[in-house]
Amino acid sequence: MKIFRDPIALQQELKGLQSSIGFVPTMGALHLGHRTLIEEARRRNGTVVVSIFVNPTQFLEGEDLESYPRNEEADRRICELSGVDYLFYPSAERMYGQDDVYVGAPDVRGYVLEGASRAGHFDGVLTVVLKLFHIVTPTHAYFGKKDAQQLALIKQMVQDFFLHVNIVAVDTVRESDGLALSSRNLYLSDAERHEALKISYALKRATTMIAQGIRDTAVITREMHKIMGSLEVEYIAFVDNEFHELPQVEIDNTIILIAAKVGTTRLIDNIQL
Ligand code: AMP
Repeated sequence: MKIFRDPIALQQELKGLQSSIGFVPTMGALHLGHRTLIEEARRRNGTVVVSIFVNPTQFLEGEDLESYPRNEEADRRICELSGVDYLFYPSAERMYGQDDVYVGAPDVRGYVLEGASRAGHFDGVLTVVLKLFHIVTPTHAYFGKKDAQQLALIKQMVQDFFLHVNIVAVDTVRESDGLALSSRNLYLSDAERHEALKISYALKRATTMIAQGIRDTAVITREMHKIMGSLEVEYIAFVDNEFHELPQVEIDNTIILIAAKVGTTRLIDNIQL
């Protein structure tokens, strides 16, 4: 596995490759969710590139940019064991200059749900992903359904900017008890981790209600709030694949999303019907 820190050097290295390039962008603190994306990329491409970059522009004032878990040594080992060919570890100074050109998230889909709670977050996400795509020139890029709105916006950027890359969506990887894997789970105490389970319980309960024939999203939302009573719920939303709010569940065209705080840790999860 080769490690690159300089964007131009990596771009030069990958330019001449004939094989397909599978790319997995991450912020590190790698877990089984990331590994699943990497394995998927490994299975389907001649070359696999993973980036680890805690992108400052997608963090808002007062968020956890400074304390975000960083574990370079363990991440490097995971990448090596997963058969990664190139690990890209850029610095913020090399990725951004001063007075940069930015990608603006779309006015509606970029500013609801996560985009409303974290205004400007998706500008940062889309900007860094576009930069990374130009450096790595992947044929396939792998993203988790865990970040459903991010995935939708990246797909839209690829379409709107006529980018030449296939976006591959990978199912959310969960602990055996249902908790969605996340680097931010490292912040949770044992008691908080137990509380956090209520998020996946609420999603499970919603799917059970839907299986029983209930379609009214207000009714299901009330039940979900009851389950998550002790958490600070930021939103529960039912949206279609275009991220329009739904009053009624549409089978095969509904994503149920939750953002909630457990203690000071903000977690998101979703389920797609
Ligand atoms: P992050 O390092 O949190 O920015 O995540 C990097 C990529 O891994 C994103 O595409 C995420 O959606 C994906 N990811 C994070 N957690 C999971 C998970 N539990 N299952 C599947 N993919 C995930």
